[in-house]
Amino acid sequence: MTDRLTSQERSKNMSAIKSKDTKPEVYFRKKLFSKGLRYRKNYGKVSGHPDIFIAKYNTAIFVNGCFWHRHQNCKYAYTPKSRIDFWEKKFETNVFRDLTVKQELYSQKIKQLVVWECTIKRMMKFSDYENELLVRVMDFLVSEEMYLEL
Ligand SMILES: [Zn+2]
Repeated sequence: MTDRLTSQERSKNMSAIKSKDTKPEVYFRKKLFSKGLRYRKNYGKVSGHPDIFIAKYNTAIFVNGCFWHRHQNCKYAYTPKSRIDFWEKKFETNVFRDLTVKQELYSQKIKQLVVWECTIKRMMKFSDYENELLVRVMDFLVSEEMYLEL
């Protein structure tokens, strides 16, 4: 993957991902709210502290930054060209943590929805896509499925 972002964009990208209430997260929450869903934010009582937790559907939602969480085959999940060892170690830790959380939630029978940042960016851009994705989210919530990645 090529590293095409400017250093300014990159540092903005990196700082955004670690913080709570990122722009994609706020946007996605608003969409859920507009669908009549009620939720908790950054819910500490569930493994992995999901960004959003919908008690009614026992569903943890993670809005994952593609860079930090290493979205496969995604252009945002590039590897910086300097301090490669540092980044690879960091990414490995993040991916391992995500996997651990995923297994914990499975064993606790909590449904999981992972929404990638690039999906949300696309939703923000195209209203048809936005509608389609929200339908998939609503279908998933009422389904028997335990895991969905969008
Ligand atoms: Zn992505």
